[in-house]
Amino acid sequence: MGRLTEIAPGVLVATSAYATTTSTVVVGSSGGCLLVDPAVTVADLAALAGELADRGLRPAVAWSTHPHWDHVLWSAALGDAPRYAAPAAMPILETERDGMLKYLAQSAPGHDPELVGRLQALEGTVIPWDGPEARLIVHDGHAPGHGAVFLPDSGVLLAGDMCSDIEIPLLDTVAKDPLGDYRTGVERLASVPGVRHVVPGHGHAGDAAELRRRLGLDTAYLDAVSAGRPHQDPRLTADSPAWMRTMHEDQVRYFKP
Ligand SMILES: [Zn+2]
Repeated sequence: MGRLTEIAPGVLVATSAYATTTSTVVVGSSGGCLLVDPAVTVADLAALAGELADRGLRPAVAWSTHPHWDHVLWSAALGDAPRYAAPAAMPILETERDGMLKYLAQSAPGHDPELVGRLQALEGTVIPWDGPEARLIVHDGHAPGHGAVFLPDSGVLLAGDMCSDIEIPLLDTVAKDPLGDYRTGVERLASVPGVRHVVPGHGHAGDAAELRRRLGLDTAYLDAVSAGRPHQDPRLTADSPAWMRTMHEDQVRYFKP
């Protein structure tokens, strides 16, 4: 885990060597912080907990952007703050739990399974805490109950697994309308006013222009693949990880008539 980097006042991002996965800390009042998607390895979480302690911070509340194994992790060293996700994410945590734990054991071994995915459904449009306002933008693109977080004070959009500079759109192809769900997600994120920084779940932070560029790439990719045309997405090349090329092939197949 890279050290926490301040990308905007009071918003710190750490990046794991595993899939360039980001963990975000929003500094609140009197030492409390909001922790979003702490990840990935046991060593990453230990380093994160240590660095929070060094800075005099402790998680007051946590948010998981979506019910995929690399976004629902926790460590006892992070304390026992309430951990929330969008209501539509909850059934997935149940039905997919065995698969998630299996994948986690292969990809980032050593986690306490009891702490994986122990989330509560949060109804409402903001995360309840006494720090900077944290608005939720919930949609079903990429995964059911995918909740991005927008921090209006700092203009930071924590996009979850959307708006990446290194990943193509990854559809939830078992959903009823994967393309419609993803497009709705893109539209919702594109219509958030006042975004000055975007932080994807995997990849690098960018500014407002970079957010527009990524959303444009996402739309172009979806347009091409859903129409059965070749894409020209610069994020997917011969050098891309094998899993992403496989996902792309799956998506191409999904749209074959
Ligand atoms: Zn994901």
